[in-house]
Amino acid sequence: MANILVTGGAGYIGSHACKALAAAGHTPIAYDNLKTGWRDAVQFGPLVEGDLRDRAALEAALTEWRPAAVLHFAALIEVGASVHDPARFWNNNVLGTMGLLDAMAATGVDRLVFSSTCAVNGDLDGVEVDETTPFGAISPYGTTKTAAEMMIADYARASDLRALRFRYFNVAGADPDAQVGEHHEPETHLIPVTLQAVRGTRPSLKIFGDDYATRDGTCLRDYVHVCDLVDAHVAAIDYLERDTRAPVLCLGTGRGLTVREIIEASEAVTGETVPHEMAPRRAGDPASLVCGSELARAELGWIPERSTPQQMIGDAWRWHQRAGYKS
Ligand code: UDP
Repeated sequence: MANILVTGGAGYIGSHACKALAAAGHTPIAYDNLKTGWRDAVQFGPLVEGDLRDRAALEAALTEWRPAAVLHFAALIEVGASVHDPARFWNNNVLGTMGLLDAMAATGVDRLVFSSTCAVNGDLDGVEVDETTPFGAISPYGTTKTAAEMMIADYARASDLRALRFRYFNVAGADPDAQVGEHHEPETHLIPVTLQAVRGTRPSLKIFGDDYATRDGTCLRDYVHVCDLVDAHVAAIDYLERDTRAPVLCLGTGRGLTVREIIEASEAVTGETVPHEMAPRRAGDPASLVCGSELARAELGWIPERSTPQQMIGDAWRWHQRAGYKS
């Protein structure tokens, strides 16, 4: 059992990773600048408040805690914001990753699990994405994650660094105990927005387009339960010790759910009607995104068994009734 540094450990996925690491007997050390993360989300190990570009703070944390591995989640993630302010994304996501790799090299920490995205692949409408899908990002968010992936691959080729990169699309749900959950401000993601409409904390859900070429005209996405997702990251720590055959693994269910199906499932879970209205298409939304994970199943034995609409929405609903973090 080991110390594991979790960058972005106060964020949505990072906080769930910390809980899963603690449950597996590890000590998660959350490293987070708290710009989009939450102090209250850090409950399973210490918090080191710092930025990835603060080399001295990062090296001090790595030297103090001597982690066996780093799980690297910290990043700016909003695609729309990246289009308007690419410099902020390149600075944070690319220079931040470079600062991390250099600090790891300087302190002899040489195991890394990187949280990437199928957005590195670009315009994938209707094609099931897997590890062989070529790079082709179409947003600065996607290009900065591509650059970070390439940087990690280059460093790994030239040093003792062993790294695994995960790519995924839509992460959903929450800790079934509702200790941690999804809390973004402002919130833009479909399931939390739907549940806010049910709770009345927003007037209604706007459905962005119903004339797409999908089974009911609304966009189709591959949703993975955050707890399934972080299980893959915890399994990756052992995987890096025994094997590094796959430098990249995709994490998806291979099935999609439409916006209307999410609404129906939310109504079944909550027993309430979801107030909704039609709205124009959102710029940049492809009709259909689905991600295969046969290789992750083969390499890690990963099965996303909690990624059903009932469980993702049910767990998110319990969390939403707690109304998020205060600080
Ligand atoms: N969506 C919607 N209304 C909303 C938020 C999202 O209709 O208020 C749709 C969006 O067009 C997309 C899907 O829900 O097809 C998932 O969007 P989200 O922002 O959750 O994730 P993305 O797929 O953009 O990463």
